[in-house]
Amino acid sequence: MKIKVKKRASTQFRKGYPLIQKEDLVDTQVETTEWIDLVDQQNQFVAKGYLGKQNKGIGWVLSRDNEVFDTTFFEKKFVVAKAKRTTYFSDDLTNAFRLFNGEGDGMGGLIIDYYDQFAVFSWYNQTLYLHREKLVEAFKKAYPEILGAYEKIRFDTQGLPESQFIYGKEAPEPLIVKENGVQFATYLNEGLMTGIFLDQKEVRGALVDGLALGKSVLNMFSYTGAFSVAAAMGGAVETTSVDLAKRSLKKTQEQFEVNGLDLEQQKIIVMDVFEYFKYASRKQLTYDVIVLDPPSFARNKKKVFRVAKNYGELVKDSLEILADEGVLIASTNAANVTIQQFQKMIEEEFIAKGVSYQQIGLYRLPNDFQTTNAFPEGDYLKVFVYKINQM
Ligand code: SAH
Repeated sequence: MKIKVKKRASTQFRKGYPLIQKEDLVDTQVETTEWIDLVDQQNQFVAKGYLGKQNKGIGWVLSRDNEVFDTTFFEKKFVVAKAKRTTYFSDDLTNAFRLFNGEGDGMGGLIIDYYDQFAVFSWYNQTLYLHREKLVEAFKKAYPEILGAYEKIRFDTQGLPESQFIYGKEAPEPLIVKENGVQFATYLNEGLMTGIFLDQKEVRGALVDGLALGKSVLNMFSYTGAFSVAAAMGGAVETTSVDLAKRSLKKTQEQFEVNGLDLEQQKIIVMDVFEYFKYASRKQLTYDVIVLDPPSFARNKKKVFRVAKNYGELVKDSLEILADEGVLIASTNAANVTIQQFQKMIEEEFIAKGVSYQQIGLYRLPNDFQTTNAFPEGDYLKVFVYKINQM
């Protein structure tokens, strides 16, 4: 099927931009689940891809050559992606990482993660999901060594389960994976999340490798406590994990337990972070390291939190309870906030409080989260590490 795109869009696709937007199409009403040829106003070939609605965009370009989308085409995508992960496969200390990162590996709409010999597919739109048989077959050819696989459905599921087993052998529950030598209990078939966000491996690695040594660490928005566990394994004297979700308590305890860590030195608090900041200030508690890693958007009874609007408040509150010479790890995965905007939001609070500060680290997505320069929106992770002198 041929689909005509506007002039500006055809120029962009020819340069490598992968995301198709509604306004790019000459006929904005067109819908199809077939593979498509994008053509320009003169009917000249531009690229090949598919239409499939996601939270962003309505489809993806998969090739700028006039190729056939058969199993071999997809197998090649997976093999090329695999070759980019050889250092991860040969790393004895890490066996959980991303195998295929959507548009960053040449196919928007599909992400595949690796958890110690098991694979987890995440489908972001219905169209690609309809082609899943061919895609999974191609994947199996590229990865015959994978023991079994699960899938997550990240579009309006219309009755489909969010998570299900797809082939091979089932994974144990929990499946214990390693990262920088730290163990993590993961559950491959429990809703959309597995218990660990693989994009933070380098930041956790820094905590393991000295940043937390001898320190007290406060982990805000802690989820399963992954940063706290990394800090404790890196020699932190105590950790405090704060998350609003009740499930976080048991999940966090489990992460400490699988590493043989004593729970005595680890506080796990189910509370709104803004409440905890107030509590800690009142009690004059201080921390040597504070990790801030909120979701890009969250709503609770009292307020709506948006990184783009409210991150500064987290920084301000952190400065109240950060020990002198303390370290602030300020992270966001908000794609709508540029690194410059994020840095400005943070440093404005330092300036307002009159503290002196030194940036001692900056982390972006690790290499298993491949991105393409043509699609900077895909490079969403920004983590600044600062040393703060309160004076
Ligand atoms: N930092 C975590 C991931 C955080 S995911 C990690 O590295 O693994 C976001 C978490 O924020 C969720 O677990 C959610 O329950 C929690 N959350 C959202 N709003 C919150 C709030 N106001 N106070 C405390 N936790 C909150």
